[in-house]
Amino acid sequence: MRDDSWNTSVVLVIEDDRPVLNFIAATLKANGFRLLTAETGTAGVALTYSKTPDVVLLDLGLPDIDGMEVLRRIREELEIPVIVVSARGNERAKVDALEAGADDYLSKPFGTGELIARIRVSLRHYRRSRSAGSAVSAEPIRVGPILFDGQRREVHSNGTRVHLTPIEFRLLEELVRERGKVLTHAHLVARVWGPGQPVDRHNVRVFMATLRRKLESSPDCQRIILTEVGIGYRLRDDWGSG
Ligand code: CA
Repeated sequence: MRDDSWNTSVVLVIEDDRPVLNFIAATLKANGFRLLTAETGTAGVALTYSKTPDVVLLDLGLPDIDGMEVLRRIREELEIPVIVVSARGNERAKVDALEAGADDYLSKPFGTGELIARIRVSLRHYRRSRSAGSAVSAEPIRVGPILFDGQRREVHSNGTRVHLTPIEFRLLEELVRERGKVLTHAHLVARVWGPGQPVDRHNVRVFMATLRRKLESSPDCQRIILTEVGIGYRLRDDWGSG
């Protein structure tokens, strides 16, 4: 039943590579999405503003203007989720895009499952942020085996209370708030240590490691926090129960 709610979503694909575009189009149609396509950045920006799709899939390498410029032009006025598509190994470009307001990224080549999952996470996240503001809700939030209670400042993993340091708690709070989305090191530093702090990736890794050890001590709780190599971290959000 939940899948039906995505059927009216319109996805704009900005991609100049025909085989990739055809693959994406076939996958989206097969999964019930409606589709708009643009093969240049300029046409993509124009369609984004004229049709306001629910999500934009943006190739970073376009023939006319750079994908980053397309992202900037969209972000001037619109908060529509933008998922950037870039070659594997081009981590710097992905980090730049995320920091410029992209919601997520896909590495070429990607499979149909990954494509659909990313689009659904972005749509879900966008709807959630519009309906509830950006704060973590007062109600406890369940993410897989984790129960996060922001009001009581309590965390349970697989039913067992986990004691977190203030920084670990704030890291988890941000991961839960943005669950399913990739968060860059710079994003986490700004949210957890405060804006303007130098981005010390090693420091983030150390706290993430202790947080993981506490959350994933039970074998049922493995791989809750996913590492996105060269980019940041993502809290798994595909547990099946929403
Ligand atoms: Ca391209």
